[in-house]
Amino acid sequence: MEHLKQLIRDIPDFPIPGIIFKDITTLLKDAHAFGHVVDRLVDEYRDHQVDVVVAIESRGFIFGAPLAYKLNACFVPVRKFGKLPAQTVTKEYALEYGTSTLEMHVDAIQEGQRVLIVDDLLATGGTARATAELVETLGGHVVGFAFVVELCFLSGREKLAGYSIFSLIQYE
Ligand code: AMP
Repeated sequence: MEHLKQLIRDIPDFPIPGIIFKDITTLLKDAHAFGHVVDRLVDEYRDHQVDVVVAIESRGFIFGAPLAYKLNACFVPVRKFGKLPAQTVTKEYALEYGTSTLEMHVDAIQEGQRVLIVDDLLATGGTARATAELVETLGGHVVGFAFVVELCFLSGREKLAGYSIFSLIQYE
């Protein structure tokens, strides 16, 4: 994991002062590392009978799509407000400053399907929590959350209490 960590680039004060942005593009351009990350996520959820991988715009798509393919599961995108063309369910949630809104198509998930939620990074947990609420609104069962990076000092896990959470690389 130390090798993977070294491939993630810190960008201070992006997108706003005080935030250290974890830039994964430097990991993605290493073919071996990218493949290894996907393989590790697959290993973790291979035996969980995942029906649907729900990935969060936009960096969640990068990992969610190959994960769905490898798990032989469907892929469902969760997008920012106004991007999805058909009828949606919508969830507004709090950011550090202000609010944001996520959407999913109403017909994206069938009642009782087993859903794995994927994003590149767990920070405060608000985005992941809102996504779980969208999935559950449609009758899906959240099997767990998979993240490549977890910023442990922001305690995102507390917002996801009761769910199974896996992260590959942690920053304490
Ligand atoms: P949160 O809702 O606070 O858990 O934020 C998670 C979402 O914001 C994810 O989709 C991340 O891609 C993005 N994000 C939050 N903080 C960072 C960070 N320091 N570096 C990169 N992405 C971040």
